[in-house]
Amino acid sequence: MPAKTKCNTDFYIENHMKKPPKPTKTSKTASKGWKTATQLVRGGRMQSQFGETSEALFLNSSYSYETAEEGEGRFAGTIQGFKYGRYSHPNLSMLERRLALMEGAEACTVTASGMAALFAILMCQLKSGDHVAASSVLFSSCHYIITQVLPRFGIKYTLVEGDDMKAWAKAITKKTRCVFIETPANPTLELVDIAAVAKLCKKTGSQLIVDNVFATPMLQHPLELGADVVMYSTTKHIDGQGRTLGGAILGSSKFIDETLMPFVRHTGPHMSPFNAWVLLKSLETLPLRVAKHCDNAEEIAWALDGHPKISRLLYPSLKNHPQHALAKKQMSRGGPMIAFEIKGGKKAAFNFMNALSIIDISNNLGNAKSLVTHPASTTHSSLAATERKKLGISDSLVRLSVGIEDADDLIQDILDALKQA
Ligand SMILES: *Cc1c(COP(=O)(O)O)cnc(C)c1O
Repeated sequence: MPAKTKCNTDFYIENHMKKPPKPTKTSKTASKGWKTATQLVRGGRMQSQFGETSEALFLNSSYSYETAEEGEGRFAGTIQGFKYGRYSHPNLSMLERRLALMEGAEACTVTASGMAALFAILMCQLKSGDHVAASSVLFSSCHYIITQVLPRFGIKYTLVEGDDMKAWAKAITKKTRCVFIETPANPTLELVDIAAVAKLCKKTGSQLIVDNVFATPMLQHPLELGADVVMYSTTKHIDGQGRTLGGAILGSSKFIDETLMPFVRHTGPHMSPFNAWVLLKSLETLPLRVAKHCDNAEEIAWALDGHPKISRLLYPSLKNHPQHALAKKQMSRGGPMIAFEIKGGKKAAFNFMNALSIIDISNNLGNAKSLVTHPASTTHSSLAATERKKLGISDSLVRLSVGIEDADDLIQDILDALKQA
């Protein structure tokens, strides 16, 4: 055994790894003046003493201190540094900083899933007797939290049809602590006027929370339109390749640091460091991917417009979308999601899905691979049939998450499958 020979590795370990990391090179980590595409590649970057060009993965749950005094100082807040994985972590920190710079938010916290994000946003601040207003067409788990979980804690709710501004004005009162909207909504692509609802919230002091998953961070900027908090399921287009579950909460430092963080620290919905690392890599290509998703979605929407087997086609940038004017006002493009009803009900919808040879059948969305969903029998099957009918989620509705394959191949696949519907 070469007991005490000093090989290069030993040298490295003794001289580098036992020392606390040097401060990062601030000149190349983040600048407020950078445009979004630059922030998404470089924002929030922390390089270790090794100078790695790809962000390092720190697969650790906790930290050690040189002295007992340092531990005391970190907990007292007089010495900066990480304390415990449930509080913070280098990979989470990098991702949070990058997402905040992307969104133009003061602060960000990432969570283990999109649902953990929404649950934390609501539960960190609501108490018995409070009221929540939300748009009626929602991702089904969001609908479940608001209509099934919150009432168990004495929190009342009102669901409002997204486009009914009179109903919003009536629903949002001084008792309304939070207003939650999803726009475009899953799965009907119904829109809510973010600026108009934000105006109502300002009057009553209610917090406006926007689920921005369907628009992606590239196409719609709720904070600029007056929202207080933006949430993402990073599982969708932010990951973009179907690998990780995650969520993100973006808002003011006051809300994130003072209201949300105490709740998050003690209840533990944090994202895993590995998932944060995957997402840091994903963000580098987000603008490129979303542009391609949108190019493809537009071509498919145009190809399907007026197709004899389709009774209703929903895509925000098509002129016949019922809220086309609003889409133009608050979204820069139509987005990566399309929904349509196929003549012939559930049987025709299933025949169509089963006949597809490229597009995968899935309940998920926001993937490089195009995915088709039958919401009534999967994602929205927990809603009562009468409720689904009211919301426009019919048995003939299919939702298409457009991927980044070749547009001509996708159109051919869809047209061929429609022949079998
Ligand atoms: C998927 C989704 C969620 C939930 O996110 P998870 O990461 O699956 O927990 C919330 N809102 C919308 C609009 C979604 O599509």
